[in-house]
Amino acid sequence: MINNRYKESGSWLDRAKKVLASGVSSEFRKYNHPHALFYTHGKGVYLWDVDDNEYLDFTLSQGPLILGHSNQEVLDAVNDYSARGQLFAGQHQQEIELAEWMHRVIPSAELMRFCLDGSEAVQTAIRVARAKTGKVKFIRFEGHYHGWLDNVAWGISAPSPDALGERGHPAVYPWSKGLPPHAQDEFLTLPWNDLELVKATLKDRHQEVAAIITEPMMCNSGCIPPKPGFLQGLRSLCDQYGIALIFDEVITGFRLGLSGAQGLFQVTPDMAIFAKALGSGYPISAIVGKQVWMEEIASGRVIHAGTMNSCNPTVAAALATVRILERDNPYPKMFALGEKLRAGLRQLAEEMGINLLVQGLGPVIHTGFIDRDNVSEFREVLQYDGAKLKLFVSGLHDAGIRVIGRGLWYISSAHEPEHIDEALAKSREVLLRLT
Ligand code: PLP
Repeated sequence: MINNRYKESGSWLDRAKKVLASGVSSEFRKYNHPHALFYTHGKGVYLWDVDDNEYLDFTLSQGPLILGHSNQEVLDAVNDYSARGQLFAGQHQQEIELAEWMHRVIPSAELMRFCLDGSEAVQTAIRVARAKTGKVKFIRFEGHYHGWLDNVAWGISAPSPDALGERGHPAVYPWSKGLPPHAQDEFLTLPWNDLELVKATLKDRHQEVAAIITEPMMCNSGCIPPKPGFLQGLRSLCDQYGIALIFDEVITGFRLGLSGAQGLFQVTPDMAIFAKALGSGYPISAIVGKQVWMEEIASGRVIHAGTMNSCNPTVAAALATVRILERDNPYPKMFALGEKLRAGLRQLAEEMGINLLVQGLGPVIHTGFIDRDNVSEFREVLQYDGAKLKLFVSGLHDAGIRVIGRGLWYISSAHEPEHIDEALAKSREVLLRLT
């Protein structure tokens, strides 16, 4: 059935499908409502599609646009620096300035390397951990996402809570066909936020484990903060067994604060991954780490390469972004707006007697439908009412509010209180239809 609101996008999609596999360049873009959409431009907190629909954007393009769309200072920095050249297959000045800035501000960033995206930076960290420890396996947690490559594209897509099997030995499911079955032997999966299980697992198996990788706040499934002492406990266990603690800060980096989740929670990992917000929409990521671990790369024992790494536009974008974030310190505002949105949504749910659960921290907000006051792990997230969430998110979308499909909202430095008021007014209308 043709949806007139998205008619032009529908025609573009038909055309795109003839040359782009399913019409898109990344799997997630297929899941837009009501189908992949085509956009013309974005400015600040707003975005427009080819049908001239305007959206108040809480996706920040899956997170990167921490300063909003088309930030003029970032665009100018990219244009100016790119005018000198795009890529030198060699080093350049702004790259050092960016690394020096990160070294000063991020606790674990004693040494670093720049890459293009989160997925490859994750793999680099795993390689470093293996090289230094001489072990192979890494521990990962249910519901965490670490990119789409072979050894991490597992465990985010269980069909139901029951299908996960025993809590201490969860079943994991491949996210994709074509993954080598032996990739499963590279990791152990555990439920998140359960330190005792990690402890027990390491007691038996620490001789196999090179690293623990975790999102320091589980943003990819339900937006669940770490239980008090959980990250500190992981830190102690890694110290005890000589295992690398890797924080995947692809979402939390520059979002929960200038120094990321590690600064906020005051736990310093051995290595960390930054991407998304670092580049304000330009493809740049970083693997940062303590000297003793990063020495594996510095010495050449571990190879990290990439033709396009640290090309001029991406570094200029990142340097401008971090300088603006430091100069303007938008974090108090972003945290306050996050709280305003959470409180407003909770109030709406209460008034209407609807089972909307609102979780999150600072400028990351998660909404899902479940009869609980709080969820703390992936198994519970799987019990959310997916059909109702779909109606909520698509209803918001039709009303001009753009939220990530799994109920995730991000707030940028460009959002203001009136944008939250607008989102709450639209949420009220949509929720009313769901009661
Ligand atoms: N790690 C986390 C926590 C992520 O959320 C993502 C992407 O959403 C990745 C890694 C992969 O990053 P990228 O999509 O830049 O490869």
